[in-house]
Amino acid sequence: MFACANRSSILMKPNVILIILDTMRRDRLSAYGHDRETSPAFDGLAGEGTRYTRAIAPAQWTIPAHGSLFTGLMPSDHHVTQSNSRLSANVPTLAERLQTAGYHTLSFCNNPLVGVVNHGLQRGFDEFYNYASAVPHRPGDARKPWLRREFSQRFRPTARKLGNLFAQSDTLFRLALNPTIVPIWTRYINFKGHTANSISDFIEYWDAYQAGGAEKPVFAFLNLMGAHTPYVPPQDALDHIAPELRRDKRAFEFVRRFNADAAAWESPPEPPLTDWQQQALLDFYDAEIFAQDQELARLFAHLKAAGAMENTTVIVAADHGESHGDHDLFGHGFGVHQELTHVPMVIAGERFGRGADNDQNISTRWLYQTILDLADAEQRADEAPFAAYSLASQTDEQPITSEAFAVNTFLNVLEHRNPSVIERMALREMRRCVVEGDYKLMLRGDQPVALYNIALDPAETRNLIKTEPARAAELQRAAGLVALDAEAGETAEQDEKVLEHLRVLGYID
Ligand SMILES: [Zn+2]
Repeated sequence: MFACANRSSILMKPNVILIILDTMRRDRLSAYGHDRETSPAFDGLAGEGTRYTRAIAPAQWTIPAHGSLFTGLMPSDHHVTQSNSRLSANVPTLAERLQTAGYHTLSFCNNPLVGVVNHGLQRGFDEFYNYASAVPHRPGDARKPWLRREFSQRFRPTARKLGNLFAQSDTLFRLALNPTIVPIWTRYINFKGHTANSISDFIEYWDAYQAGGAEKPVFAFLNLMGAHTPYVPPQDALDHIAPELRRDKRAFEFVRRFNADAAAWESPPEPPLTDWQQQALLDFYDAEIFAQDQELARLFAHLKAAGAMENTTVIVAADHGESHGDHDLFGHGFGVHQELTHVPMVIAGERFGRGADNDQNISTRWLYQTILDLADAEQRADEAPFAAYSLASQTDEQPITSEAFAVNTFLNVLEHRNPSVIERMALREMRRCVVEGDYKLMLRGDQPVALYNIALDPAETRNLIKTEPARAAELQRAAGLVALDAEAGETAEQDEKVLEHLRVLGYID
């Protein structure tokens, strides 16, 4: 009797699908005013749910941003800020909490920094599928012919160890960025995963799970890497976005070289990009977004046709954005400018207004409390109350912060490529910002350095810190921004170990 009641209350809980569009700039989506039609599926979902116009990422790159999504904490609190960081066993993850709340937890992950690197963020998933690896792990693996299955099973642990080693060792990471080998490994290790395969597998899994009786509600996390470098969109997407590019050999050649120079993906461009170069990158980036959006369209159409949207909340957000030469930066290694921290987000589900806009400043790390609230999870005494941060309820306006710990692996690359830029742009120093109302204050270390009115000046071109010092001081006070210790990594020691291995193997002198 009790078992029955328990089962029916679990079944009433909504399924939750969390889709993270890696490296997705908000201003390149048509839903946020881009003049090209890059994102019809995303826009369609916004029409059925709530579009967040001021969603702010707590970090500027993948690992700390996912750390915050999965713990609800700021990077300086969860400490997963570098490739070799590890989440404390005392901090529960979203997936672990959802398991406890009766959910079947799944991941279809295309970013190796989330799915392959060993930082504890995979904890709590009943099944974790990886598409970015020399040996992807897919749900259909059991149906492969015997020889391929054997090979995958034997080689996958080695591929995983190698992936970890490259991501966590500054030296190996830097060696891997040699332009002659970048095109080989990006392809060989499926660096961007395989969006279409991950969506097809998820659809197939979903159908089979529902047909099998769906014992528990589902929490599915998908990370899609279409918008990440390198930019290699299919020709039909490029034709849709920028048909004039077909005859533009110069643009193709520039993007081909850029794609091969992986160190440039995260380096301030020197000399600065010319207008046509920046436009070429944006054209290819937009085409990648459109190609990925077509895969989202396929997923949403399937969920609708299967009647799944009735009891499912779908969340689509970016982990962070991307600089394409904005503010003299490229990639997402450094800084908290809007192109990195102001991200797209839509939530469609029973407790969210249809076709509504939410114009409050909110943090994407609140998705943690939001999803636990939807899942009717038990509130722990030692954590922030779900009700105060759940986007399924009314939240109060409050200051929102982002933290950009400089990425050690990228700093190491720059030390060898262009060391003067590190000092000139003070790239080692942590950047933080706080957004309150229309204003955003930026700090370098503990020093306030810029104040912007991001409603009037979304590109952050007019620094108001000298003209409005009182407002800057007020923002700093409101956010309680105090000095933070930079993380002390273990990279040096680890590097020595790796180098010793390589010496023994004869790869280096
Ligand atoms: Zn990312």
